[in-house]
Amino acid sequence: MSITDVIERARNEGRTVLTEVESKRILEDAGVPVTAARLAPTADAAVQAAEELGYPVVLKVVSPDVTHKSDAGGVRLGLASGEAVRDAYDGIKESVKRREPEARIDGVSVQRMAPPGIEVIVGVSLDPQFGPVLMFGLGGVLVEVLKDVAFRIVPIEPRDARQMVREIKGFPLLEGVRGQDAADLAALEELLLKVSAFVEAHPEVAELDLNPVFAYKDGAVAVDARIVLA
Ligand code: ADP
Ligand code: MG
Repeated sequence: MSITDVIERARNEGRTVLTEVESKRILEDAGVPVTAARLAPTADAAVQAAEELGYPVVLKVVSPDVTHKSDAGGVRLGLASGEAVRDAYDGIKESVKRREPEARIDGVSVQRMAPPGIEVIVGVSLDPQFGPVLMFGLGGVLVEVLKDVAFRIVPIEPRDARQMVREIKGFPLLEGVRGQDAADLAALEELLLKVSAFVEAHPEVAELDLNPVFAYKDGAVAVDARIVLA
């Protein structure tokens, strides 16, 4: 399904928030590295998707009404067998129904479990004056507590991407501390450039969140994605 198809379907359903599956589909087309996610409407479909993708996998709730999937009990990580997938499918449905009884549940998404990396976040939001603004920061607690982020107006150039990655206070973490692997800075810069180009080409995108992106010694991958349409 192309980006125009995805957007049209969302609009027809009166939705502005794209699901993780839809968002990743579009971003994959745009050359942004993501853990591609498949929609599984039943437990059987989830097992089949897992068999095809290869274990271990991650299951997440797919619902237009759930923004924070883990808060709703809608994320299960590191599933290594069909039985684990089946249990996780039932568990997710049960938790989400309990915590958000009004939410429509379309099923679950199935994706490969990505190896752990340094968590960073990439975002885009619309500034009324400047238009789309790109944000880069360290993920998790650091970004919430320290607001340690870098901003640039879209579109960015390679020089901007280089600076964004380097100007956050947490940059030493990306360079590798205490024997930890350094992050692949070139891959992060490339990802920022791809996101910028994507947003520039699609003015209908009002908001974009890649939270988190796992940064590795070699490469980087977004394990969660959310696009909001204008
Ligand atoms: P939400 O932000 O809606 O709660 P996420 O998709 O971000 O849900 O998942 C929650 C957490 O689970 C992530 O922050 C990440 O640490 C982990 N996670 C999600 N998807 C994967 C994956 N494919 N591989 C490894 N870890 C993942
Ligand atoms: Mg997330």
